[in-house]
Amino acid sequence: MATIKIKDLSFKPFINEDELQPLIKKVANQINKEYAGKSPLFLFVKLASYEGTESKGTVNELIGLNESLEGRDVIIVEDIVDTGNTLEKLYQIILDKNPKSLKIATLLYKPEAYKKDFNIDFVAKEIPNNFVVGYGLDYDGFGRNLSSIYVLNQ
Ligand code: 5GP
Repeated sequence: MATIKIKDLSFKPFINEDELQPLIKKVANQINKEYAGKSPLFLFVKLASYEGTESKGTVNELIGLNESLEGRDVIIVEDIVDTGNTLEKLYQIILDKNPKSLKIATLLYKPEAYKKDFNIDFVAKEIPNNFVVGYGLDYDGFGRNLSSIYVLNQ
């Protein structure tokens, strides 16, 4: 796999699909085990705090959550946890809806960038504090469709 260019930036191969699959499976198994006999509600919500490659430190309001979370075992599913700003906001909004329990699952987690205290319960892979694209993660709307994850060339 070669270096790629997205808009003005160049990215190099970082984690390929073959490496991601077993990591995702592992998290899925963990969740299956922990929630055996329960019926958790997975929330794939989006609250991007990003503009380009830099976190703004502020997040937008949560849009489009119509289901009742009252008494439910809720799992927030994130693509990536960076500073944790997005998650903190989400956490508060969701806790206000009185779920029975609330946990967080994420594909990627940047421990060096994380600034919050609450626990990230399920993590497929920890990565260094660099900007990544692919596998659903975009750079200004581009690169989301890449089957592997690429990291910014610095
Ligand atoms: P946080 O609020 O934790 O700083 O950032 C969370 C959100 O920022 C993620 O859901 C994602 O949309 C975006 N983000 C954080 N780091 C990256 C990254 O390395 N690449 C991309 N494409 N988005 C990121």
